[in-house]
Amino acid sequence: MAKELVINPQRCIGCTTCALTCSITYGEDFNLNRAFVQILKDDRKGLFSIAFSSACKGCKKCAEVCPSGALRTIEVADKPKEGQ
Ligand code: SF4
Ligand code: SF4
Repeated sequence: MAKELVINPQRCIGCTTCALTCSITYGEDFNLNRAFVQILKDDRKGLFSIAFSSACKGCKKCAEVCPSGALRTIEVADKPKEGQ
């Protein structure tokens, strides 16, 4: 089974645990500016948005630590290889 990232920004509480985890995984410190996922707050709506950079490795560690379910993984069936 493969894992797929599911994103639900409406559940995001803005804790930035995802971005901090990403930055310490791929960098040398906890640094929100170096994370491959950014959490942005829309002050007018009071909602957060979740944006992944093109440098994201797709490891899904950010989803493993998200406490709210805004980022989570689901198991999906492996795609059949060509010719099968
Ligand atoms: S999937 Fe991995 S590389 Fe991409 S933002 Fe999440 S922790 Fe960072
Ligand atoms: S996506 Fe999850 S871990 Fe990231 S800021 Fe939102 S609630 Fe926190």
